[in-house]
Amino acid sequence: MDFIEVYYSPQQVSCPESSSPSPRKPAWVVADWMAQGLPVRIVEPVPTRCEQMALAHAPGYVEGILSCRLMNGFRGRQQDVADSLPWTCGSFLSAARGALNNGLVACSPTSGFHHAGYESGYGYCTFNGLMVAALTLKAEGKVRRVGILDCDQHYGDGTAEIMQALKIDWIRHVSREYGSADDAGPFVDALPEVVRSFADCDLLMYQAGADPHINDPLGGFLTTAELAERDRIVFSAAKALGLPVVWNLAGGYQEPHSRVLEIHRNTMAAGVAQYV
Ligand SMILES: [Zn+2]
Repeated sequence: MDFIEVYYSPQQVSCPESSSPSPRKPAWVVADWMAQGLPVRIVEPVPTRCEQMALAHAPGYVEGILSCRLMNGFRGRQQDVADSLPWTCGSFLSAARGALNNGLVACSPTSGFHHAGYESGYGYCTFNGLMVAALTLKAEGKVRRVGILDCDQHYGDGTAEIMQALKIDWIRHVSREYGSADDAGPFVDALPEVVRSFADCDLLMYQAGADPHINDPLGGFLTTAELAERDRIVFSAAKALGLPVVWNLAGGYQEPHSRVLEIHRNTMAAGVAQYV
């Protein structure tokens, strides 16, 4: 590959009053990667349609969120958040298609998916773009099995809830709530085998969260170097399996946000080192 495809539109950015920088992060990371001269190509995503989002969520919930009648994952009813959601889900779905098409990797600079359940959202998550993408691709016959490797600091409870609600047995979901720095060694040591456990999947969705960083106010067990090693292992092990990877940003709450951007930059650099 000559570059890593990044499925980004300014329309996926929103600016709710929130302690989370995540809705602003897509523009920041893209600007950072370009400024650093990383070999990325920006590709315009296709926004998801209501019926695609309703594959993973109750139709009434989808309608209520998009019309600002129901509270979103930021505990508000902001129009700009509602307007951004088809674009964040669409960025992830489009990137997943990109990874399937090139057989290697694609990036969606998105966050805010894994706490969104079948008809509820919290923790800065409104719609579960992971599940929207998986269910859309499954309905189209593009995938048989999908893997979700959720390396955010926090458990993907919304993902698990949707899988349970819809009785889904064709997604392998690996996610947990992480603890102290004592978890770091075992986590990194186990990771190659964890990635190999997705060998029978057609696509791996990798949430490369920045909030497991040891200095993150909502996280805390991996150093910057250990996070970079995490990314290196995921990409190299998936590539060895011939398993396409679509990856996104997920959480990251350090101040100033340049510290979060550094972690996401390292993930992109790990992808570049492996695939470009
Ligand atoms: Zn998190």
